[in-house]
Amino acid sequence: MRSARIAVIGSGPAGLFAADELVRQHDVDVEVDIIDRVPAPYGLVRYGVAPDHPRIKSVIGSLQRILEHPKVRFLGNVEFGTDIDRSFLDEHYNATIYATGASRDRSIGIAGEELPGSRSATAFVSWYSGHPDSPNDFHLREDTVAVIGAGNVALDVARILAKTPAELDSTDMPPHVLDTLRDSRVRDIHVICRRGPEFAKFTTKELRELRNLTDADIIVDPAELTSSTREGLDRATLANLAVLDEFASQPPTGRTRRIHFHFWRNPVEIKGCEHVEGLRIERTGLLQDGTVHGTGDIDTVPAQLVLRSVGYRSVPLDDLPFDSARGVIPNQLGRVVDSDGHVVPTQYVTGWLKRGPSGVIGTNRIDSVETVTSVMEDLVSNPGNTSVSADAVAAALHTRGVKAIEYDGWLRINDEEIERGQVAGKDRTKIPDWENLRRVGIETLTSE
Ligand code: NAP
Repeated sequence: MRSARIAVIGSGPAGLFAADELVRQHDVDVEVDIIDRVPAPYGLVRYGVAPDHPRIKSVIGSLQRILEHPKVRFLGNVEFGTDIDRSFLDEHYNATIYATGASRDRSIGIAGEELPGSRSATAFVSWYSGHPDSPNDFHLREDTVAVIGAGNVALDVARILAKTPAELDSTDMPPHVLDTLRDSRVRDIHVICRRGPEFAKFTTKELRELRNLTDADIIVDPAELTSSTREGLDRATLANLAVLDEFASQPPTGRTRRIHFHFWRNPVEIKGCEHVEGLRIERTGLLQDGTVHGTGDIDTVPAQLVLRSVGYRSVPLDDLPFDSARGVIPNQLGRVVDSDGHVVPTQYVTGWLKRGPSGVIGTNRIDSVETVTSVMEDLVSNPGNTSVSADAVAAALHTRGVKAIEYDGWLRINDEEIERGQVAGKDRTKIPDWENLRRVGIETLTSE
């Protein structure tokens, strides 16, 4: 049987599903190295899925089985673009699949966006998720926060801000994050949606979950729900509207915190001199093409913290084509293509980097099956270099001074996190900094 070694860059669901698909192949005996810049695997499942959503995070159980497959090797703490480059990958692997996701925030392009106190939801999510890149600079001394966007990330952020310490204590958030949330002065959270509720990208389950908040009222203006027709709307949208109707029908009960939804409101300016003092929002009307126009009717939300939650975008990768307008690597069925539309041999892409930041975790499996099908078709017709071994990769990394953290190193981090959690009476407490992740992970280096 033919054999091949494939590198997968990124250990989130897209990369791991691709690895899983690769090692299931019957025509080619595939070995996979999953390379990630962070010492811990699982990408956005670890650093994006909200810490109070343990059921979604439980997908880690099946992702872990992929990492434990004998033909799969995890190489954490290895950064593409810094520690290794395309020529390294071309030399050591028959093909590379890039699955680095979409880690950056998008900006809105309004005045005041650069003011202190104007931040991205991505930064807030990284902070509460204990990502080692997060500078720990959220203090939550503000009483009013505006969250711009009508997607699930906006809901995650609003919900975390609206929860009581008791609702968050059992999560795996690092202690400094829990301390800040415990002392939070945030009382009013305004979710700003530029279009009507029928266009919101919230999923109904996440919207319904707001019912369970123990000390927050949800405030929806009924007039904003009736301003457009419901005829012809799909079932999911009608279900969202039913939840919003329920919120609109309930008067506030004097709870400590409030989430206010504002539909048909476009952010037009972030006000402030040295710091955010407010967000100006303009009432909108719908145009025939589904976009909105401003009506000139402007209000100000007195927010001191503005969190943009208007979607993620991918980061271009060295020596690979990038479509900046769409924020993806241009591809045909996962095969990377250059600006002339020619396939770049041995280079593939999957996940958000391939199709943009949309869909649920499972969407990435379908995506990865498509990409791996392309990889296999190409490998069968052109097997390429098969002489390089796993040991040669480890040796080459070692020569470059790169301290890869393999799966057993990750398990040590995992154990340490579980131990830290037990001390606090819960399942896990995350290690949030590079130094300790590396200290714990690198002790088990096999390449030294
Ligand atoms: P998203 O679902 O694409 O939502 C982005 C929102 O930002 C949209 O409401 C969009 O409005 C709005 N927006 C874009 N540009 C704007 C602008 N200039 N001004 C004002 N609003 C603007 O993105 P996301 O919330 O980041 O979520 C990303 C993906 O992760 C989604 O597939 C989401 O479902 C998934 N996710 C799932 C969960 C979960 O299942 N629990 C949790 C988090 C994330 P328009 O529609 O008008 O463009």
